[in-house]
Amino acid sequence: MRHCCQFKPCDIYYLQENNLFSSRQLAIGFCPVCGKPVAELSEWRFDGVLNRISCAGVEANDLMLKHSNEIVYSLSECNYRKFKSKPFGWKYGLNKQVKSAGRNIVKQYACDFYGNKELIKSSHF
Ligand SMILES: [Zn+2]
Repeated sequence: MRHCCQFKPCDIYYLQENNLFSSRQLAIGFCPVCGKPVAELSEWRFDGVLNRISCAGVEANDLMLKHSNEIVYSLSECNYRKFKSKPFGWKYGLNKQVKSAGRNIVKQYACDFYGNKELIKSSHF
């Protein structure tokens, strides 16, 4: 994959085929130059044209979220068994607001795409 330079993805997610596309892969990695997360979707259209979308930063997060429910398995899934309860691989942030004794509490979680989440921070207002 590519951003400021060419680099290897740290994981590849294999996505379900749909009506238009097959051999769908979503590669994720971190640019070694600027440190931004980079996501790259590549899929083959039914008429043999390769569709490639690449984005970085927040857009990479969005691209990942958009396709999260289509993930069939990932390259690192075997390794994942070792880390069962902790979020693993690509993580995204989730904020939840709860009320407690008339005060708002915002809980921040790190989530992965296997249903694990970990509380990172909770702030009171
Ligand atoms: Zn970069």
